[in-house]
Amino acid sequence: MTVKLHTGNLEAIHRHAEAEYPAECCGILLGETSSETKRVTEVVPLANLRHDPDRGQALLPLDDPGRETERNRFLIDPREQLRAEKDARARRLTVLGYYHSHPDHPARPSEYDREHAWPWYSYLIVSVEAGRARNTRSWVLADDRSSFEPEALELEEGPGAAETVAAGQAKNLSRT
Ligand SMILES: [Zn+2]
Repeated sequence: MTVKLHTGNLEAIHRHAEAEYPAECCGILLGETSSETKRVTEVVPLANLRHDPDRGQALLPLDDPGRETERNRFLIDPREQLRAEKDARARRLTVLGYYHSHPDHPARPSEYDREHAWPWYSYLIVSVEAGRARNTRSWVLADDRSSFEPEALELEEGPGAAETVAAGQAKNLSRT
């Protein structure tokens, strides 16, 4: 599938990622699907629960909480997620996936990301280098969950104008 995203929504994700730096940000992607595409119409920024280590650890324990912090892990509050899902359903929108940032790391999923992902959903990852959002890529889990595969991401500037970015292309969506 191809993920379609408006430049304004990408900007919103980048701003969120930069505001949270050096911590990871996270949020939900809402929109509509057709047979070939996931069209994101809204991004919903959520809090990273790893800012509250005790609560985070109680909800989903980390193996090494001394090394794993809000700077390299994110956790969405299940109640916030439920609220966002209900709200989406009421407005006939679908949860298409999730976004999060990688402070001073590439926009590539970690092993931890893979272990905690579900098939079908799009996982947008933004690399933030020294406080600036640099690169955004979309990933989808293979059906057997063994690995993440790059997913085509298409930016829409406005009606009729679209910039196609091939999956796996390194230069995609980077900022100058
Ligand atoms: Zn990650």
